[in-house]
Amino acid sequence: MFDIVVRGGTVVTDGAERVADVGILDGRVAALGERLAGRRELDARGTLVLPGGIDPHVHLAYPQGPARVVSADDWQTGTIAAACGGTTTVIDFVEARADETWMAALAARRAEAEAAAAIDFGLHMTFHRTDPRSLAEVPEVIAAGVPSFKFYMAYDGLRLDDGELLAGFEALAAHGGLALVHAENHDVIRHLVAHHRRAGHTHAAFHPLCHPATGEAEATERALALAAIAGNPVHVVHVSAEAGLAALARARAGGQAATGEVCPQHLVLTDAVYAGADADLFAMAPPLRRDSDREALWAALRDGGLDFVVTDHCPFTRAQRRGQRRTPEFRRTPAGVQPTAPEEPWSATPPSFDRLPGGGAGIETRMALVHHFGVTAGRLSPSRFVEVTSAAAARRFGLYPRKGTLAPWADADVVLFDREREVAISAERLHQNVDHTPFEGLTVRGWPRTVLSRGELLVHDFEWVGSAGRGRFLARGPVAGLA
Ligand SMILES: [Zn+2]
Repeated sequence: MFDIVVRGGTVVTDGAERVADVGILDGRVAALGERLAGRRELDARGTLVLPGGIDPHVHLAYPQGPARVVSADDWQTGTIAAACGGTTTVIDFVEARADETWMAALAARRAEAEAAAAIDFGLHMTFHRTDPRSLAEVPEVIAAGVPSFKFYMAYDGLRLDDGELLAGFEALAAHGGLALVHAENHDVIRHLVAHHRRAGHTHAAFHPLCHPATGEAEATERALALAAIAGNPVHVVHVSAEAGLAALARARAGGQAATGEVCPQHLVLTDAVYAGADADLFAMAPPLRRDSDREALWAALRDGGLDFVVTDHCPFTRAQRRGQRRTPEFRRTPAGVQPTAPEEPWSATPPSFDRLPGGGAGIETRMALVHHFGVTAGRLSPSRFVEVTSAAAARRFGLYPRKGTLAPWADADVVLFDREREVAISAERLHQNVDHTPFEGLTVRGWPRTVLSRGELLVHDFEWVGSAGRGRFLARGPVAGLA
C-alpha cells in the first residue's frame, strides 16, 4: 500500500512517455505500474505527469548593484510562486560581502533559505575575487555541497578580468568545480553607456544598445577559450543571441563539453518592448534581442545546442524600478497581500537606463511558457520538454536521479500538468511578489494543476495548499569528468 497513487496520467520522463500509475512511499517514487493501491489517490487522467521542474538560475532576496535594491521575491514568496508554476527545485546564488569568507556567506545564505523555502534548493557560489584565501576555500565550498561557481565578465564589484578568470577556472579544474559564466564584454558596455550618457540619453530604450549581441558572442568565445586552457567544465548562463549561440556551438563542435541555458523571456519576447511606455520594466542583461535571435534559440533548444531553460528570476516592483523604494512595498503571502513599511526613496528622480535595477520575473511562468510555445506550438516533444525543464539541469548540476526523473528512489517531486487549461498571464493572478510580469497579457494553454514535493501536496487543483520552511538544502557532489 502506497501513501499516494497518482492515477492514470501520461508519465513523461526524459526517455519515455506512457500511461501509468505512480506509487509514492515515504516521499519517494516507489513504483510505476498499473492498478497500484494507495491510501490517497490523485486522479491524473488526461494530464501529463512530469518530474518537478528545476530552475537552476534564480535570485531571491538579492541586494543588487551599488544601491543594493533587493529583488522583490524572498525565499518564501519566490518558492511558493515556483511551486505554483510546477517548479520543485531551485538553485540560487551566494554573494559574499567583502568582510565575509565564502564559507560564512554560504552558511548564512543556506540558513536564510532553510527557514523560508517551500521547495528544495541548491546554491551556486559567486566567484568574484581571486585572493589566495578565497582560492583556498574552493575545495571546502565544494565539499559543502556547492560544486558550481558563478563568474561575471561584466559589472563592477562582481567582474573578473581574463587573468582572474583563468586563476578561478584553474582552481575549479583542480577540485572538480563547474564554472557558470555571465558572458558580456565589460569594456564595451562601459564605453557605450558613457557615450549615451554624454549625449544626454536616459531612456530605457538605450539599455539594449549598450549590451550588443556581438559583445555577448565575444565574451562567450573568450570564456570558452579560457576554460579550454584551464581544463575546467563550463556552463554559459542566459544565452540570448544567435551570435553567442554560434560561439558555444563552435566550442562544442571542437569537443569542449560546454553547456548553455536560455530564459523564457529570450525565447518569447523581442526588443520591440523597448519602444513601449514600460521599457524600464525590461531592463535586464542580456537584454531582449531580435526576432531572428529568438528563432535561433528555439532551434537550438529543440536540437540540443542549448541544454535547458532557466528564468534568471530577479523581479523588482515598479516602485523599486523607479527609485522610490529599495524593498518591495507589499508582500504576497498565502493569506493575502500585506503592505510593508514606508521607506525613503533611494533616487530623487527616476534612474537613467544604466542605473535601473536589472532583472525580470519568471519563476512561476517558466513551465507553462515552454510548454505552450514549445510543445503546443510543435517545436518540442513532451519528452524534450521534460529534458529542458528538469532532467538536463538535474544532470548538469549533480542532482540526477534524485531529481529530474520519475523512477524508483527518485524524490516524489511530481507535477500533474493540465494541457488544456487556458491561462491569461497577469501579475495579479500569479503568486510572484511583484506588480508586473514581462509576459502580461499572453494567453497560454497548459498549466500545472497539482504539484507534489517529496510526496507532500503543495498545489492541488491550481490552489496553493502547502507550507513554507520545509525546503531542504541539496548538497551536490563534485562535477569532475564533465569537462
Ligand atoms: Zn542571473
